Amino acid sequence: MKRRWLTITVCVTALSWQWAGAKGLPQAQTTQREMVVTANPLATAAGAKILKMGGSAADAMVAVQTVLGLVEPQSTGIGGGAFIVYFDSETGTTMTLDAREKAPAAATEGLFLDPDGNPLGFVTAWQSGLSVGVPGVPRMMEHMHRKYGRLPWPLLFVPGIVQSLKGFTLTRRTSDQVTGLLALNPSCEDRLTFRDPVAFNYFVDSEGTTCSAKPAGTKIVNRDYAQTLKLLAIQGTDAFYTGAMANDIASAVQNDLNIPGTMSPSDLAHYEVIEREPVCFVYRENNVCGMGPPSSGGLAVGQILGLMAHFDLSDKQPLDEDVVHWFSQAMRLAFADRNKYVADSDFVSVPSAGMLNKDYLTERAALIGPNDSGSVAPGVPPGKFDPYGPDFTAKTSGTSHVAIVDRYGNALSMTTTIESSFGNGVMVPGRGFLLNNELTDFSFIPTTPSGDPVANRVQANKRPRSSMSPAIVFDDRDRVALVTGSPGGSRIIGYTAQSIMNVLDFGLDPQQAINVPHYQNRNTTTTDLEIPIPNVTLDYDVDGLTTALENRGHIITLIEQTSGLSLIRVTGGQLIGGADQRRDGTIGGR
Ligand code: GLU
Repeated sequence: MKRRWLTITVCVTALSWQWAGAKGLPQAQTTQREMVVTANPLATAAGAKILKMGGSAADAMVAVQTVLGLVEPQSTGIGGGAFIVYFDSETGTTMTLDAREKAPAAATEGLFLDPDGNPLGFVTAWQSGLSVGVPGVPRMMEHMHRKYGRLPWPLLFVPGIVQSLKGFTLTRRTSDQVTGLLALNPSCEDRLTFRDPVAFNYFVDSEGTTCSAKPAGTKIVNRDYAQTLKLLAIQGTDAFYTGAMANDIASAVQNDLNIPGTMSPSDLAHYEVIEREPVCFVYRENNVCGMGPPSSGGLAVGQILGLMAHFDLSDKQPLDEDVVHWFSQAMRLAFADRNKYVADSDFVSVPSAGMLNKDYLTERAALIGPNDSGSVAPGVPPGKFDPYGPDFTAKTSGTSHVAIVDRYGNALSMTTTIESSFGNGVMVPGRGFLLNNELTDFSFIPTTPSGDPVANRVQANKRPRSSMSPAIVFDDRDRVALVTGSPGGSRIIGYTAQSIMNVLDFGLDPQQAINVPHYQNRNTTTTDLEIPIPNVTLDYDVDGLTTALENRGHIITLIEQTSGLSLIRVTGGQLIGGADQRRDGTIGGR
């Protein structure tokens, strides 16, 4: 007991001088007019250029998204989906846009079951035509531009087209991820991943029976993608959802070399983005607005912060034992509800208001004791819902987050994804972009062993549950205060909630907030602490914190937690940006 106290004291003292901006760690950047933060320098540069030309946040997003699809192909692209939270300064309103992929009309509950009714293995389902949802990104870009754009649509495609033709150098991160996927193959000829010869030749060097990822630094030119972007620039996104390109997409899905899927040209022709009300909740006098169903992000971040509001953090530091303990317990409670209740609200009733109800959260917060609770059961929030069974689907990383504030005061928070690394691994022939595998975000089993339907089961035309948590935080005078979000599968929820706490509770600037090591508990056995990364994250007393938490019943796992947070803080007429160096984040603007 005595030893523990000593450890904590040392830890706290050590931390207090570190927050000011520990030497060697990434530092925040400040601009006066506009700012864009993305996971790649070329995408950031494209967004900054559009902003400089007088473009709006929506305009800059189109340029960023089209460049990201080229230079960060493992994470995002026009073959995927996205969620946006957008503050429009002219009307003072906040909207969210749901551009989530949706299941084809022919999809059934048994999509991911084998003939005996057993769920397929994740890799089998992922690397197949079954996993491909109807992409939402092209329609999302067009919708945002029609509503909020200021510059001509074709102009926004110039950076992507030029970069595709000029070429770009493959990043270490992309190359390493190709290596990771190749490792799943029995042999170079007998391939489960990169089965598609187009994607294989694009990402892989092969000679005879050996193959390896193209090394970091390789120059890549993508003429097919340039041609696709030109078509979208000139003809609009009907050129994607109808006609020859729609036929090519459907054909790539239906002729998948592993398992064919059913997506048809008609599925593409009927795709629509949906404007939805944001999910907003008050945290420490700030209004945090995020994405509601089909994302679980807004509700789960809301529940975590709503539970944390029951604790006094005013004299605490970000990595204090108490903070990590309370946060892990809040995450447990939020994930228990998320797993049971959240899915596409156009198909199932989600008790959204009840999950954020103050009295309900007070009741739930009372369950947080001094020691780790172990796995917790979902609560019974006020409101209407069907008798669902839980879905524990938790995913890996193929996503990117973009934060933009323009000179007009508009703010955009977008998390955009093709689900797993390189989506489902298939490049549409002649079109230069990858397909997503978003449908693996559905529960593979439609009913629990006890016979309860799972809210997030596959249904025709339904959108799979997401964890993406783009958010905009407004201060007590309703002014934009913080734009935040991250990739990272179901860890996104913890990363985003933690970033908000680090800024609002601990007064950190956006970069310091990102540099703080992560901690998570997704209602699993273990509480996960991030392994510090030299010159990227703050160093901390890992052993001390581990021991302190173990003494409170936690089972601790130390693991990498590769967030990709993009943060913009708006304060005192300035924009302060933070970009995550766990990936290739950069800040642009002036
Ligand atoms: N597909 C996941 C979701 O929508 C995101 C995957 C990731 O972040 O890597 O929640």
